[in-house]
Amino acid sequence: MNKILNPESVKKFETLLDESNKVVLTCHVHPDGDAIGSTLGLWHLLRSLGKEASVVVPDMPPRSLRFLSGFKEIAAYSRHDPYCSRLVGDSDLIICCDFNKPSRQDHLAPLIENAKAPKVLIDHHEGPDMDCVAEFSYPEMSSTCELVCRIIAACGLFGNINKDCATALLTGIITDTQNFTVNCPNPEIYEILIRLLEKGADKKKIIDEAVKAISYDSLKLRSYALAEKLEIFPESRGALITLSREELDRFHYEKGDSEGLVNEPLNIRGMVFSIFMREDPDCIKVSARSRYNFPVSKICGDLFNGGGHLQAAGGEFNGTLDECRNLLISHLKDYDKYIPQRIEKLDADINNITGK
Ligand code: 5GP
Ligand code: MN
Repeated sequence: MNKILNPESVKKFETLLDESNKVVLTCHVHPDGDAIGSTLGLWHLLRSLGKEASVVVPDMPPRSLRFLSGFKEIAAYSRHDPYCSRLVGDSDLIICCDFNKPSRQDHLAPLIENAKAPKVLIDHHEGPDMDCVAEFSYPEMSSTCELVCRIIAACGLFGNINKDCATALLTGIITDTQNFTVNCPNPEIYEILIRLLEKGADKKKIIDEAVKAISYDSLKLRSYALAEKLEIFPESRGALITLSREELDRFHYEKGDSEGLVNEPLNIRGMVFSIFMREDPDCIKVSARSRYNFPVSKICGDLFNGGGHLQAAGGEFNGTLDECRNLLISHLKDYDKYIPQRIEKLDADINNITGK
């Protein structure tokens, strides 16, 4: 494996680990496979080193991640504020995984920002803006879990990875790369895969639980969304799905039920980007995916107070679902310039779609 980590950050991290006993691992709001995989992976590792570690997250992770060992120990701030506050207050090291700025922690942000313990950032999003004593920020990584594997190896601790730790770390790699189909141009990811499988990572369980297992309601919701709510904008090579509260309620929506739905329209030949808007209780949640390096992170940054990666981004909108949809539609043309020229020729399918 190439040594791409900054040796000084590795050294600093090793010293911080040596000097700490009570470590809090934390991540972004609406935690996904990479956020939970990286925090729980490190949780297992730290326990093997005899540390008192705890995972403190802004809100509950989806049930698709319940199979991970240690899941039950995760403390969600939205449910257990005093307990989380005590863990953070008593900690002597905080490791921030899979987010680049405090606002990504939502209501948990002030607690983490004002904590007295030194903080370390481990993340793969562009433009880190965190007050940390050591920083591992590598946007070229497939996932925070890949980065955690590299950090563990650089610290000479790969031998401490057990089956549960390996399974957690592989979960983030598999979910963030959509099963090794996106964001993994560096072949070294397969070397890491081999190392984790050698440690006993349960790939089958990850696929069965975190990738494939959806409920009947979730399947019906997805089918409805694709059959009835998919809008195509052929000139912009874009797709949009919107789901209102009423529609979500009709299918007994539970957290995680629409996970991955935004990817589906990208299977259409010639489609360049896809956006999904969901009416959550407090805001409209926007999810975006693209191909051919079309910058959906820019759309989310410009219009939806968000960001993320070039090809996988998100944001939030305060207003009605219709207003959110109209905002996107009124700005679609601004992004036509990012459609690669060669896609113009790949238009056999998409030009025959007139939209709904
Ligand atoms: P998802 O669509 O799976 O919710 O999010 C995809 C990626 O977009 C995340 O990994 C994260 O980088 C980014 N993202 C999602 N929601 C937000 C948001 O509200 N703000 C920012 N800055 N990034 C987001
Ligand atoms: Mn991630």
